[in-house]
Amino acid sequence: MISSTGGSGHPSRSRASRLTVRLAVLATTVALGAVGVAVSATPSSAAACNGYVGLTFDDGPTGSTGTLLNVLRANNVRATMFNVGQNVQGNPSAARAQVDAGMWIGNHSWNHAHMTSMGQSQMQSDLSQTNSAIQSATGVRPQLFRPPYGETNSTLQSVASSLGMRQVIWDVDSQDWNGASVSQIVSNAGRLQDGQVILMHDGIQNTRDAIPQIMANLNSRGLCPGMISPSTGRAVAPDGTPPTGTPTTPPTGTPTTPPAGGGCTATATYPNVWGDRYNTSVTVQGGSNWTVVVALTAPQRVNTTWNGTPSWDSSGYVMTMRSNGSGNTFGFTTMMNGNSSARPQIRSCTAS
Ligand SMILES: [Zn+2]
Repeated sequence: MISSTGGSGHPSRSRASRLTVRLAVLATTVALGAVGVAVSATPSSAAACNGYVGLTFDDGPTGSTGTLLNVLRANNVRATMFNVGQNVQGNPSAARAQVDAGMWIGNHSWNHAHMTSMGQSQMQSDLSQTNSAIQSATGVRPQLFRPPYGETNSTLQSVASSLGMRQVIWDVDSQDWNGASVSQIVSNAGRLQDGQVILMHDGIQNTRDAIPQIMANLNSRGLCPGMISPSTGRAVAPDGTPPTGTPTTPPTGTPTTPPAGGGCTATATYPNVWGDRYNTSVTVQGGSNWTVVVALTAPQRVNTTWNGTPSWDSSGYVMTMRSNGSGNTFGFTTMMNGNSSARPQIRSCTAS
């Protein structure tokens, strides 16, 4: 689902381009003066949550980021901000304010170009430059990437993956970029289901004005604002634990079907273990074009991988890692999330 380009609802190029121009003007304006916001991280309410949804705000920071953050904080919302690199560079204090307000930061490209017309190296430099600006401003390296206009292809996805980012499109389009009224935005958000993600934008007053009603609707349905899992691209509880209803035992049954190929041997070691996470290093013998299936134990979650191209089953606990030309050893970092003893299981290894 999230590898699609968003279906019928995603912004047309012309409308979204106009929005980008408007936001660029706002960003230029705010670059002349710091955003007047001073807020601290506020955990989401501990009220009973039947599930989680991901509220996302694209194209910032803008001249009204501080106002947006005040509204979010007043409504006890943590959200994901997909920032444009040049806006961050022009206004690093606003990006810092996002993190200070408890928001998660994603990469939304350097200048909101149509990235599918780029070559691989251009994609790589665009996303790297954006990550550098975000990390410089906030100290946080993005683990999520949203392509401008929701336009993507396999090359762009693999470039994002090689930089440690999961691509995230959206399930629900608020239509705020398209002039939707407050009530229309609220109505669109009312379609959100557990685990889903909604597209909204920084810099639009109707969006800010809709937030109290959006939250009232979500609360009435037992849905809480969550973070977007870098492993699965789905909304989960803010601390990274699976939402209520997700099995807390390891998935059983048939593992992801491996592609045709010969057998190989995959050996895991754990070269680094910290208090909250550990690294796994897997060495494959028996071929250079390999696929290894690894199963995690809940609530552990992978947050970074390297030297391979990962994909995930719907549970988010079974990772299929494919060689990407980086050799025969790949690795990943796993967040323990309270389970410090479990280690990943190698389910299969195929190679050619
Ligand atoms: Zn955008």
